Parts: sequence; C-alpha cells; structure tokens
Amino acid sequence: MAVNLGQVVCQDKAIAGLQRAFATGRMPHAYLFSGQDGVGKFTTARAWAKMLLCQNRTQRAGEVPFADSCGRCPSCLLFESGAHPDFQTIYKELVVFTEDGKNKTPPVDMPVDVIREFLIEKIATRPQMSGHVVYVIQEAEKVNNSSQNAMLKVLEEPPPFCVIILICSRMEKMLPTILSRCHVVRFGPVAAGVIVQKLAEAGIEEPESGYWAGFSEGRLGQAIAWASLETKGDSPYLIKRALLERLAGATLPDVLEQAEWMGKAAKQIAAAWTAASENVSTTDINRRAQKGLIQMAMLALADALKLKTRATENLVNADQKAVIRQLADKYNPEHLALLVAQMAELTRWVDASVNEKLIFEQLLFNLTHSDIISLSVSSIG
Ligand SMILES: [Zn+2]
Repeated sequence: MAVNLGQVVCQDKAIAGLQRAFATGRMPHAYLFSGQDGVGKFTTARAWAKMLLCQNRTQRAGEVPFADSCGRCPSCLLFESGAHPDFQTIYKELVVFTEDGKNKTPPVDMPVDVIREFLIEKIATRPQMSGHVVYVIQEAEKVNNSSQNAMLKVLEEPPPFCVIILICSRMEKMLPTILSRCHVVRFGPVAAGVIVQKLAEAGIEEPESGYWAGFSEGRLGQAIAWASLETKGDSPYLIKRALLERLAGATLPDVLEQAEWMGKAAKQIAAAWTAASENVSTTDINRRAQKGLIQMAMLALADALKLKTRATENLVNADQKAVIRQLADKYNPEHLALLVAQMAELTRWVDASVNEKLIFEQLLFNLTHSDIISLSVSSIG
C-alpha cells in the first residue's frame, strides 16, 4: 500500500523541503534521501513519486502549497497495485533478472549490472502514463565506487522527465561527485511516542511497544518490522526477555551453553525475517538477526549504566527493571561503559563476517570475565 504524502509519519521537515522546491517549479531531478534505516525514506520516496505521477493532484494552500496525490485516478490506483510503468525501484537483488544473472544468489553489494541494465540503459525511456518517470535506488550506500562513477552521467543530465531518488543510510559511502549532483534531503528519527502509537494501531501494546520504540532508536519501520515478526516459538520480544535474564545470570562456566542458546535464537529470528522479506540475501538476514541480539544486549548494559549513574530513569528495558538492576549491581560504571563499547565493536565484527559462534561466545566472555580477557576487541575484524 502506497501512502499519500500527507500520511507520512513525522517527516514534515523533509517533505516541506521537497514541497518548497516543487512549488517554485524548480524541482531537482536527482535526490539523495539520507537517514537511518527505517525512518521513512523509502515510504516518502514512494509517496513523492505517487504525487508526481498523479493525474489529478490535490493542492492544500499554506505558506508553501502542499501538493499530494489524489489516491483515486488511474495513475494512483496503478501505483497502489505496485504495477505503475513509470515508477521503477532498483535494488541489488534485481541481479537475477539481469542478462547474465540467471543463477546468481542475492548479493551483499549492488552489482554494476543492475545499475547498468535497470537505470542507465532505461533512462531514455519516455513516460507511459504521466509526465515523469521516477527511479528509486535502494541502499545506494551499497553501490561501489566504479558503479557510482557509471551513474554520474545519468545524474548530471537526466532526461527532463526523469526523477532519480537515491536512498542512503550511510552518506560517507557516497562519492563527493555523486553528492554534488544530488539534492540531499535529511530524514531524522521518529519520536518514541509516535512509534508507540503506531505500534498500538498495529495491535502491539505496552510494555512491548515501549521496548521496540527504544530498541529502534527512532526507526519506525524497524520497530514495526521487529514487533510483527512471526517466529516459530517465542516472539522476538520474549527472546529479548529471556536473553536479558541469561545475560544477567551468566557465569564463566556456562558461556558456551549461553552462546549456543544465542545462536539458536539468532537462527529463529533469521528464519522469521526470511519468511517476512522477499529477495533479501541470506547474509543480510543473518547479520540483521545477529545485530538485533547484540543490540538487545547493548541496550541492557546501557540501561544498567543509566541506573548506576542515575543519569536518567528513562530505561529502554523499563519492562525488566529487576534484571537491569541485577546487571547494575554486577559491574562498576567504568566496566559497564567498557561493555557497551565492546558490544558496539561486536556489531562491527558482524559486518566483517566473523563467525557467528565466535561473536556470541566473545559477547559472553566479555560479560563474564572481561577483567582478565586477553583477546582484544580490536584484534579481529
Ligand atoms: Zn491520483
């Protein structure tokens, strides 16, 4: 379901910027939507495209007129069905539809063939229904430098009917030459209260909704996706509760057993992500599950630090305060700060493809005897 612009949650500032340029009639033809995963970049790109393609645009008066899609014209209906010929989404998993891509597995980086065959070679194609053709490139940070260079010409002089939107969660991965050709629109985090409200609308109540709002750090899409994952067995929320209890009670002799439990939990979560997402590579899904568990551990330790230093009573794990108290009693503040930093480092290990078993064992070793640990966190990855 593609929403109208007026229905996009909490991205008023970004949308106001888009509207301002549109109202002056000097709309840029290349955009880069920048911000964390799950804050609404893709949702906004779709809503913006739907508005541009709409055959019966509405206009709300105001300091800056607010243009929106009507939701009823043939273009809007086709857009909502996901089959609009003038709206093209480009993502790395399209590789299987490229000329030489038949038996390729979903890649981790954006293959140059996808950029060439789905953007560069198609860019001259005229609109079939509306005045524009809109291309949205997902995960632009995964387009490598040579493919970014291949895109330059298209971004510099797109045909006048083209609008290209790059969706990007890591601006530092983009070449300066790309950035200078795009109009950058920044997307901030969504307020926790809004996330709780959206989760309630999806049937997820407190305290679970409050947890996912904290866990997602303003990434509404992430909060909804995690909260509605359907696992075989315990839900991710129940896994989180069990994980924290295990971490608080962990001792050196049972590190291997606890790490094994985490491995099983990661597999269960990964299986649910696989069922919920089309065309995402197994590597990406496994990493997401591993990072999710590490994030849960990191937030618990950060909560313990907050409790210990009385910095704030605003805990992400307010639903398990007794367990957080147990963690806070176990370590001194310096130790907790170190543990949080070590968890962040383990997240980098995930991206560096370190073996999952090793990561979880290291996580538990950190918790159980980090004062005598000799394996430096920076020695791998
Ligand atoms: Zn319409």
